[in-house]
Parts: sequence; C-alpha cells; structure tokens
Amino acid sequence: MASDSNILCFRHCCANSIFCKSVPEICPICQLCIVDYKIEPFLVPYPYTNAIHEENCVVIRPSQGNFLNDYHIINDLHIGITNSQGIVFEYDKQGLIINDYSKWTKCIAISLIPPSWGNHWNETLKIMLKDPKWRSDNYDESLMNCFNFVIEFLNNLKYINVCYVNKETICEKLILPKIKDALKYNSVSMKLKTSDIFIS
Ligand SMILES: [Zn+2]
Repeated sequence: MASDSNILCFRHCCANSIFCKSVPEICPICQLCIVDYKIEPFLVPYPYTNAIHEENCVVIRPSQGNFLNDYHIINDLHIGITNSQGIVFEYDKQGLIINDYSKWTKCIAISLIPPSWGNHWNETLKIMLKDPKWRSDNYDESLMNCFNFVIEFLNNLKYINVCYVNKETICEKLILPKIKDALKYNSVSMKLKTSDIFIS
C-alpha cells in the first residue's frame, strides 16, 4: 500500500508535522538548517488499495466514484468482504455478487483477523453464499443491503470483539476512523499540489 504514496512527513523543532514530497534543507517553521529531527521523515501510508491484494478483509468504497475524486463523508458507501484470494463478496440489488474486480481497485481495506483464522473466514463466506437469504429479491436499500451482509458475516465469524449490531455501530467503530485518515491524506495530497510544504 505504502508504495503508492509519495508524501513524506517529519517533525523538526516542535509538535507540528511537516508534510512534503522532498525534505527541505531549511526547516519551514524555525528557519534553521535541518541536521536532526524530532520525528525522522517517513512515507505517509497510502490509504487506498486494490482489493485483490487484500486477503480476508472488510473492503469499503463509495457507492459511486472513488474516494479520491469528489468524495464527501456523507456519500453512500458500499462494503464487501474479501476471501483469502482477494475475491470480493458483496451483496447488492443483484444479490450476492462475487468478484467485480474493476470497482474495487481503490478501496479501503480493513484487516480484522490473524492468518490462522483464514480458513474459518473462507468457510463462513461459503456457507453464506449458499444461504437463500442473500438472493436479489430480498434486497432492500435501507433494511437489507451490503451492510447487513457484512454485519451478519462478522457476527457468524464469532471472532473476539468483532461484532456489530447495526450499520451505525460498524460505521462508528470500524469504518469512520479509516475514512477520516483517508480524507486527511486526500487533503494533504491536495495541499501539496500547489505548495511544496504543508504544516499541520
Ligand atoms: Zn524547525
């Protein structure tokens, strides 16, 4: 993931973070020549990924478009699950769909389990795939949608501390913190298009 990022971050003389594409010789805050750091420059992790590289994850993308273009935090989200081969399982009005690769190339992936749970994760997905509950005729935009599928999957998985009662709780506890990080990345990335340095 990090390989797609070209944003560096460091701290020099104070608690402010300095974002840049290449580290300057002079600190933009104290104007002194930089010889050492409070925090050494590091590559800011790129928050988006191709689902195919993300095994056994919860994956999220906007229902329309992608996070990098015109996304606002109020926009509808679509959510799915990847198996150990990065194949996406998602529930929408066409029923349970498997692997619509092209729409998941810039998603946010959330890993919840250790590798030792991978088999159980895959088996839990397979069982749900056979469940007629996830046919297209049961789909309802507000009552029976992609979030219901992911919430039921995670509840069926029974992995410690991973259990959500509804869309509001999964958004608040799992998804929004990741989206906020991603939006912060977007905003720093935008600032660095018109300026060499951004201080936060
Ligand atoms: Zn400084």
